[in-house]
Amino acid sequence: MNIINHILGFPRIGINRELKTAQEKYWNKKISQQELMNIGKKIRKKNWEQQKKLGIDLLPVGDFAWYDHVLTTSMMLGNIPDRHRSFNNKIGLDTLFFMSRGISETGNSAPASEMKKWFNTNYHYIVPEFTINTVFQYSWNQLIEEIDEALSYGHNIKPVLLGPLSYLWLGKEKDNKVNKLDLLNNILNVYKKIIKKLNKRNIEWVQIDEPILSLDLPTDWLDAFIYSYKFLYNNKKNIKILLTTYFGSVEHNMEIIRDLSIDGIHLDILSSNNHDLIQINESIPNNWLLSLGIINGRNIWKTDLVYWFYKIKKLIKNRKKIFLGSSCSLLHSPIDLNCEKELDQEIKSWFSFAIQKCTELYLLKKALLQDDINDLQIWSEPIFSRSKSNKVHNTTVKKRILEIENLIPNRNKMYKKRIVEQKEKLQLPILPTTTIGSFPQTKEIRKLRSDFINKKLDKEKYIQKIKKIIFENIQRQESLSLDVLVHGEPERNDMVEYFGQHLNGFAFTSNGWVQSYGSRCVKPPIIIGDIYRDKPITIELIKYAQSLTKKPVKGMLTGPVTILCWSFPREDLSKKLITKQIALALQDEVLELENSGINIIQIDEPALREGLPLRKKEQKKYLKWAVESFKLSCYGVKNSTQIHTHMCYCEFQDIIQDIINLDVDVITIETSRSSTKLLSLLKKFNYPNEIGLGIYNIHSPNIPSIENMKKLLNKFIQYFPIERLWVNPDCGLKTRNWIETENALQNMVETAKKVRKDLLKNK
Ligand code: GLN
Ligand code: ZN
Repeated sequence: MNIINHILGFPRIGINRELKTAQEKYWNKKISQQELMNIGKKIRKKNWEQQKKLGIDLLPVGDFAWYDHVLTTSMMLGNIPDRHRSFNNKIGLDTLFFMSRGISETGNSAPASEMKKWFNTNYHYIVPEFTINTVFQYSWNQLIEEIDEALSYGHNIKPVLLGPLSYLWLGKEKDNKVNKLDLLNNILNVYKKIIKKLNKRNIEWVQIDEPILSLDLPTDWLDAFIYSYKFLYNNKKNIKILLTTYFGSVEHNMEIIRDLSIDGIHLDILSSNNHDLIQINESIPNNWLLSLGIINGRNIWKTDLVYWFYKIKKLIKNRKKIFLGSSCSLLHSPIDLNCEKELDQEIKSWFSFAIQKCTELYLLKKALLQDDINDLQIWSEPIFSRSKSNKVHNTTVKKRILEIENLIPNRNKMYKKRIVEQKEKLQLPILPTTTIGSFPQTKEIRKLRSDFINKKLDKEKYIQKIKKIIFENIQRQESLSLDVLVHGEPERNDMVEYFGQHLNGFAFTSNGWVQSYGSRCVKPPIIIGDIYRDKPITIELIKYAQSLTKKPVKGMLTGPVTILCWSFPREDLSKKLITKQIALALQDEVLELENSGINIIQIDEPALREGLPLRKKEQKKYLKWAVESFKLSCYGVKNSTQIHTHMCYCEFQDIIQDIINLDVDVITIETSRSSTKLLSLLKKFNYPNEIGLGIYNIHSPNIPSIENMKKLLNKFIQYFPIERLWVNPDCGLKTRNWIETENALQNMVETAKKVRKDLLKNK
């Protein structure tokens, strides 16, 4: 019996985020390109050494990236937008950074390429651009150099390539003269060249990632798969192609996949409900190698190795050789659990980060070869203790969930009736002005929070100082004459982490960083158990803010779906139920805010769209429970309490009906990129409630002019009834400074006033 274990990729950021530090130093001209290169080399060396020491047989090469691996592929293929090419057409590391960060030198500026979510993860890739002039040409030797580097250390390696079809699929046609599939022959020729280079290097396997096979693909794309892999296969000589799929089951495309010319296939077993390995084995050709993705690359839970031991044991009666692997690249997992010194020991025993996942593969392989399950039982024991732990289970929460099983969380009265009561209470002008929630996170605020965390400041003093900032925020908004005020969120470092820290059922790491994009890393909270609220979260500060002004102050909460999407979820409970638990906890907060005299409550859901499953047939179900959870979070409020939500970074067209179903009184929404498209959509769907279309882009430091905003607002009025329009920026202001913020808001309020006046005149 022959078992080889491998992972599809390892985190590239370095255990202390060395890559991030180095990138940022290089961008700020604090270190040279050579120094940056050396740091990358060190990270790779350590990564490989570690994996080998931990017992990984085949080490991935090509999983490292200076910014993003899709971008690396664009570089390799020479697919560089004209605006990012230097005058002599030379392609280098700076070209890569031009594409990802834009060029902004005096006399020379070009926007970065777009960034998009990598399937349904929180990783973002740089979107390849295609035009009628796109020509692919082998242009960047990073992969080959890294292969030679790894070989020089004597490693047994497996190069990793993003497959040609996934690459094309993920890119964007920048003009309507080009069709992605027309570029296929050209791109395949470059892949052929690359594979030829691999061949020369005496490598047995190349991993070609085609994650799009888990999507619903049009037939011409499926046909292109047959064609492309036949072409590559016929040109590949000795090297073997391992086609890797992940993030979803590929069962629905199996008929096509079975006809592909490849030597082996990697399946993400975890993302399918079917764990019947015998059946899976029968669904693929006999002469292929089967690679089983059974160690979760995108969550942090220990694997139940005993469970897999028995499954695989049965399978290997039928197969002499298999690969055992991570379900997807470990890019999406934190690196080393051993760095967590402050985590509760019991909780820690439930987790497994990238390093531990390598160990899991090793243990499983060893157990299978020796037919001895002892070590696996020891490894898996905490999974069983967890299932009984009172850190996980709370009977009150479970009872409460049962009680609402058949509840349809609709509001008492229709929007049309509610709004009458709200208008009466709030007494707002037409085109009310407001902001999205956060105000500039100054150095002072950051220092305050870190002093509090590091216990340099006791809680009482800390709250006092935070209140002082809130006081200033309210004063500034009063002077700006905004109509609906916010407290400014100075106490929040992150909109999900803050709520996680104040709810039961979450755990936090101190070093569990995961790359989000480029040099940006996030440290997602971990949902470990039943979620509930045992004390107020935002009440004191919001009440304080409201006490300072006669104008309404919005209570500001993060919605249940966003809290779920930006955390590592537990896996012993469905996402639907976890989200319902969060919603109930938030409901307690919402009702207490209302009781404390807060008349407007905003529940942000920027991640509603991104939780959408990859397969169409699962999307409907998701949207149903996502909308229901949101509604549950504010269920029971009075008609006169106005519920707001905010959404951003999303393509609304495919979820517009679901946004309507949320039945919020007011939604503030980002529109800066294509307001016309969104406006016609709102019109077409007869969006029934109130809306604040972002009137300026907060991501830019430029001060929006009254003239531009007036034009935009007048355009909004053409499409949408004025009585239901709000005026606001397109997102929170925490990344801006006060000068920018005050100037921009002043112009925004002025714009609203001018348009109101014009309206009166015309009446
Ligand atoms: N209320 C949050 C803020 O203003 C919303 C952030 C977001 O949309 N991502 O920062
Ligand atoms: Zn936003």
